[in-house]
Amino acid sequence: MKKLFIDLDVCGSSENEGRCIAECAYPFHPDNDGVISLLELAAYAVICRQCESGNCINACPVEALEKDSNGILLRHTMRCVSCKSCALACPFGTIYPEAIPFGVSTCDYCVHRLGPGEDPLCVRTCKPEGAIKYVDIEPDESKNLHAVGDNLVVKAEVWKR
Ligand code: SF4
Ligand code: SF4
Ligand code: SF4
Repeated sequence: MKKLFIDLDVCGSSENEGRCIAECAYPFHPDNDGVISLLELAAYAVICRQCESGNCINACPVEALEKDSNGILLRHTMRCVSCKSCALACPFGTIYPEAIPFGVSTCDYCVHRLGPGEDPLCVRTCKPEGAIKYVDIEPDESKNLHAVGDNLVVKAEVWKR
């Protein structure tokens, strides 16, 4: 089954920061930027160190951050005021400031919107980097390919204890 694939080594790299030009076809919010929400989802699930001290959580003035039952960071977007304090407090740079916008963005993986052989709009417009793809791919930890849910595979170096 085809899945969305995002290469954080390319998409999240510092030289590309703030330069995302990929478009999003999510129809329910005007100006929705689904790639931003993908980036956040991928970073929290794969490269966040899941620190016990939780500097990011403690730095949030509005209690918008918590960990879920698997220890993965969760941001309550309706509480978050986009102050970026959590990004400053994280010693590892795993909260990308551009991925904590004031407005809520959503990615539904374009499930049910794609015609036969069609790629999501973000894949077609992520140029020239090609950091987002829509491919037949399976997670493989030995190749730094990590499953995040059923529809997303993330490529990133993962910190190991
Ligand atoms: S898969 Fe669809 S909803 Fe998700 S970021 Fe790409 S275009 Fe937007
Ligand atoms: S950006 Fe949002 S989640 Fe982060 S500290 Fe500020 S309010 Fe909390
Ligand atoms: S401080 Fe950074 S690495 Fe630690 S849990 Fe928070 S986001 Fe993850």
